[in-house]
Amino acid sequence: MKHYKQYINGRFIDSNASSVIEILNPCTEEIISTISTGTVEDANHALEAAQASQPAWEALPAIKRAAFLHKMADVIRENRVFLAETLSKEQAKVIGLAQVEIDVTADYFDYNAGWARRIEGEIIQSDREKEHIYLHKVPIGVAVGICPWNFPFFVMARKVAASLITGNTCVIKPSSEAPNTVMEFADLIQKIDLPTGVLNFVCGSGRTVGNALSKSPITGIISLTGSVGAGQQIISAAAENITKVSLELGGKAPAIVCADANMELAVNAIVASKVIFSGQVCNCAERVYVEDRIYDEFVDKLTKKMSQVTVEDALTGTNADMSSLVSKAQIDKISEMVEFAKKEGAEVLVGGKRDEKFDKGYFYKPTLLTNVSQNMEIIQEEVFGPVLPVMKFSTLDEAIALSNDCQFGLTSSIFSENYNNIMRATNGLHFGETYVNREHFEAIQGFHAGWKKSGVGGADGKHGMEEYLHTRVVYAQYY
Ligand code: NAD
Repeated sequence: MKHYKQYINGRFIDSNASSVIEILNPCTEEIISTISTGTVEDANHALEAAQASQPAWEALPAIKRAAFLHKMADVIRENRVFLAETLSKEQAKVIGLAQVEIDVTADYFDYNAGWARRIEGEIIQSDREKEHIYLHKVPIGVAVGICPWNFPFFVMARKVAASLITGNTCVIKPSSEAPNTVMEFADLIQKIDLPTGVLNFVCGSGRTVGNALSKSPITGIISLTGSVGAGQQIISAAAENITKVSLELGGKAPAIVCADANMELAVNAIVASKVIFSGQVCNCAERVYVEDRIYDEFVDKLTKKMSQVTVEDALTGTNADMSSLVSKAQIDKISEMVEFAKKEGAEVLVGGKRDEKFDKGYFYKPTLLTNVSQNMEIIQEEVFGPVLPVMKFSTLDEAIALSNDCQFGLTSSIFSENYNNIMRATNGLHFGETYVNREHFEAIQGFHAGWKKSGVGGADGKHGMEEYLHTRVVYAQYY
């Protein structure tokens, strides 16, 4: 069985902690690897290494930093099958999707490398004679990236690529649930001669390692992708040194289906958005609002489509739509939420329970619920599983109001063939992202950012890259 170590200052080291974290294959419940539990000392050691290497890294022309990002993309592509299998095994991601995550991660490094010649400042007209006002974009210093288990490899790249191209050095804390693929990447980048200390990986619990990284005065920016609870704790820790935070948190995405929608397209897109990685995706459709005139027909079609979803072992299942949930904690939480919804009157049209076809693992059936109402937990709280509650609406204003009646503001969607409906919804929905007539999934050149409790700041594209830059203003007077 493989044992992983922390990667700090260019070396793999076993931390002083006596315990190890055991990583399970969720489909089989077998322990597949261990990793030494990182400590507060490891976190501080990594931050010090990142701090020491930062001035020289910043001094490199951006195009030279970009060359390292291209090399990271290359080593990922050279090892794409191995990395996808590692990812699939550690978190029950169906192998096809795991391969997509690996390939998109390589693209992400190349894409960010492309910003090298485009990190630009501004010169502004002064009100004084013989003066120029210069805005310079400069790196913040040391960036800390704290990652979730659901897209552990891609989210790691979101933080590493954007921080390194902008001249920051970086400490990554992978999720303890799924660190293997990230630690394999740490091993692979040994081959690219990245300057020592520029990129470090410390695995351990959020409360110890994550907290130490968040409250250190060395840290210049903390970028978390995770739950609202972790975001709140990180804001408290960051308050100590008024450290910048960028938080990508949970969601409760509504999908609005108007009577004039292309029904086939809407059914396919909503089911695809729900079952991708077994519904454990922050931007997944989490609730559906259907116009009353087509409600019965739509629900019939949705029932048929959800019943056809295939569930298999993530690695060996051929062409499965989804697989096991990531952990016992996850299946217990989802089961409880569905049982509670049933008690409150929800009707189960598909699934609604664990999948008894499997005697090991954390398999939950794709689930469709009706007879739900706006104030029920299943409509208000993030499920993060393959459970879709459906409600009716009669006017678009009502659908927009129901969608906005929620603590989260990450993603949303509208299905309609009517221009006015689309324009009204895209302007009225209080969400960082709205998808029109397509499944919920963002692009690397977009901007992935939650409103309300879904976060502050954002990732991807130009604006995501700029999160990692300070703006310095110089008032240059001359005689
Ligand atoms: P989580 O909050 O449990 O953990 C995320 C990371 O935060 C882990 O590395 C964890 O160790 C760390 N952490 C936890 N408490 C911490 C603390 N006090 N200080 C510092 N670090 C701490 O989330 P998860 O279960 O891994 O992921 C699922 C959640 O992430 C869902 O809510 C999902 O919606 C969200 N998510 C959001 C996005 C997005 O882009 N908005 C993307 C993926 C996942």
